[in-house]
Amino acid sequence: MAGWADEILVGGQWRRGCGPLIESVDPATGAVVHRFHGAGLEDVDAAVAAGLAAAQDPAWRNLLAHQRAAVLRRIGTEIEASADLISAVQTADTGKVRAETRALAMSAAGTFVYTAAALETMEEPVTPARGGYLTMGAHEPYGVVAAITPWNSPIASEAQKVAPALAAGNAVVLKSPLWAPCVSLLLGRICQEAGLPAGLLSVLPGSGAVVGDALVRHPQVGKVSFTGGTTTGRSIGRAAADKVMPVTLELGGKSPTIVFPDADREQALAGILFGIFSSSGQSCIAGSRVFVHESIYDDFVSQLVQRTRALRVGPGDDPESQVGPLVHRDHRDKVRAMVERAKSEGAQVLCGGSSPEGEGYATGAYYLPTVLAGVANTDWICREEIFGPVAVVLPFGTEADLVAQANDSEYGLACGIWTADYRRAWRIAQAVQAGTVWINTYKQFSISTPFSGHKNSGLGTEKGREGIKSYMRQKSIYWETAGSPLPWAEHE
Ligand code: NAD
Repeated sequence: MAGWADEILVGGQWRRGCGPLIESVDPATGAVVHRFHGAGLEDVDAAVAAGLAAAQDPAWRNLLAHQRAAVLRRIGTEIEASADLISAVQTADTGKVRAETRALAMSAAGTFVYTAAALETMEEPVTPARGGYLTMGAHEPYGVVAAITPWNSPIASEAQKVAPALAAGNAVVLKSPLWAPCVSLLLGRICQEAGLPAGLLSVLPGSGAVVGDALVRHPQVGKVSFTGGTTTGRSIGRAAADKVMPVTLELGGKSPTIVFPDADREQALAGILFGIFSSSGQSCIAGSRVFVHESIYDDFVSQLVQRTRALRVGPGDDPESQVGPLVHRDHRDKVRAMVERAKSEGAQVLCGGSSPEGEGYATGAYYLPTVLAGVANTDWICREEIFGPVAVVLPFGTEADLVAQANDSEYGLACGIWTADYRRAWRIAQAVQAGTVWINTYKQFSISTPFSGHKNSGLGTEKGREGIKSYMRQKSIYWETAGSPLPWAEHE
């Protein structure tokens, strides 16, 4: 795959992008790993036109479900076979530790294989008729789908869109992010090598404001599936409304994770650390608001801080590292500025609150896992998504107080509950406004389980068997069967 990151994939052709230069920087060292021309507006038009032609080509459009599924399955197999390469590329692109990037690659492989199975077994309903006819549902592809992804979990979040959109019979134009552009190009190569017909997948790394916006507004793009920040999602939703175009929006979060006094202490500590500090906190479902019952607050928080201090921060390709650098120095600086502002307004830094010192960290985008206390749930630091390795700890008293605080957020993405009382876990799981609730676990994912955000965390659902239909428009067919005349039929 020599030179795979020098060109972008436009309508089946690898070529130099029409947009400005993109630099993929290794956040562990600050070194430029790849430099290439990203996509520009001409690439958008070419990718959409080629996608439309490929989606309408009978060679793809008329494939039976099991035949299209076979292509998806091959892509899954190829991704799995390339997992080590994908993991290495992604670690260099994003700084994530190798264990995480390998898991993301395997998750992407699983998504293609699962989607193939879901496609082969997808059924259309025959609905109860109220006359002499048969009524049935039919689902058709939109044509060209734009998939717009963030930098934090590339390949996995891209597979989550590309696999079901292709399964549904669409072509996909993937707009990958500036800070993690390489792995999406690798995905493009793999899809091609697995036999996906040309034009069905274009990969356009580039600017959101230019390339992403042009895709959203393009008259021939029939659906947008977006994962990213709530502000961007809102503006995409507005543009989609003008076209009366369906969108799926997977957006930000500020998720509560809740510790009751009867929780298994070891399990809760490990789960909370993993929930906020894995991926260096750059995770939409990061458990960034840690609510601890007041009766155990001091003791639990002191253990949490002790273990946070013990986390091993280092480059993603060192197997000893648990917390890698942040994706980019600009992002690290943004996280640092948020912590500094909170400090200046009275937040107590229990640990972290700075970049690690030492030669090995000097040029990287590192920030120490940080625990803040002495803040109220109504303070901005508890309301805004930091998207970095920063947790706030907050005490709570009664269950009612806890639920009120947990829900007092514009977001509703995820929630963690740590308790031995299964009735309490059930009550809280129902009362908390969140698309995903984990009980005595955190950040576990199955492709068969639907994923969605409540409130400002999103619109629409990804994953699960119904995921394919979210990339199709519904049609109803009435098929006369009884030979009975309609009321105005003329009689001799
Ligand atoms: P972002 O919103 O800045 O960018 C996401 C993508 O949108 C990028 O590819 C970007 O180039 C593109 N984009 C930006 N402006 C655009 C525009 N006007 N039109 C079209 N596309 C545009 O987000 P980010 O900083 O890359 O990612 C972090 C955010 O993503 C966090 O808020 C995180 O919570 C969220 N996220 C959500 C989920 C989820 O499933 N809910 C998963 C991962 C990340």
